[in-house]
Amino acid sequence: MSYVSKVLDGTCPKCGGTKVFKVKGNPFLFRMPVMNERCSKCNYSFHREPGFYFGGMYMSYALTVAEMVAVFVLGLLFNVGFLSIFIGVVLVILILSTFNYRVSRLMWLNLFYKKEDEV
Ligand SMILES: [Zn+2]
Repeated sequence: MSYVSKVLDGTCPKCGGTKVFKVKGNPFLFRMPVMNERCSKCNYSFHREPGFYFGGMYMSYALTVAEMVAVFVLGLLFNVGFLSIFIGVVLVILILSTFNYRVSRLMWLNLFYKKEDEV
């Protein structure tokens, strides 16, 4: 499995058998995604070490900026006013917040997965 497919599937980086997140979260219900502690199939720990996902925040930041720029450019292409673009950017960021949270953590987890990880 490639890096992109592992991130998009949200499965264990080692075996691909279990979903990393047990709850996807919902921004409309103020529910954050919840991760499993370990893979139930191969026992791979999704919590590598304390503070491991601190770096995932940078991934989340990059995703958020990319989405903001995309909405801004779309607003300019469709000749929408700046207030509408601002509102659109805020709405998109709020709606995609849990998606960004999950994808950034999956990107970070898969980025540092090595075949020799046994724990
Ligand atoms: Zn696994």
